[in-house]
Amino acid sequence: MTRFSRLCGLIIYCSLFASCSTQARIPTVSDDPIELLVRNEAEEIVAVSEDNNRFSAYEIFLSDFPRKDILGMSMGNGRIYISYELAKLASGNSFHLWLLRQTLAHEIAHETAGHAKQDGSSWFNRGRLGGGVTSVDVGLPWNVKLRNYSIDKELEADSKGLGYWKKLGWDCRIWVRILKNFERQNYTGDVFHPTDRRLQQAERSCAV
Ligand SMILES: [Zn+2]
Repeated sequence: MTRFSRLCGLIIYCSLFASCSTQARIPTVSDDPIELLVRNEAEEIVAVSEDNNRFSAYEIFLSDFPRKDILGMSMGNGRIYISYELAKLASGNSFHLWLLRQTLAHEIAHETAGHAKQDGSSWFNRGRLGGGVTSVDVGLPWNVKLRNYSIDKELEADSKGLGYWKKLGWDCRIWVRILKNFERQNYTGDVFHPTDRRLQQAERSCAV
């Protein structure tokens, strides 16, 4: 569980090579049954979102991130990467299935909110201070730089994602329990994903 504690939204940009955008493909894993499971789960969530008529535009990939505590990433244009290990575990037990559903709701919310398209000063909140995710962590070359979404966007993705859960009739207390579990394991998150603020927000939202 400690290895699966980080929900990430990242934006790739390239500072060195003009051709970098084509080179910068996050390595993916092919596993048809697991891909189908993830896609079916994602489809349910997208169906209650603002993108309910454009699920076909979503591309959802499995990735064996070198850094094993990364659960998922949203890259914009409907491209979402999900930890292959998390997805495999989700096929076998309900705890990880709910963790997958939380991850998907969070990443889909980044997409529907258009976070990858927004330009703003908050983009420049990089992870240097608090362990933001680097390109090497997700299997990209070192010379590709990643921008982490700002903390405001991370909290917004949680809030919207929890809203999708509610629409689906999924128990928000499970979402809260997942974050409490992070806290119990002393996983405080990082500067972009502070567990305490995420938990406070989820508890408030779940109480209404
Ligand atoms: Zn995120």
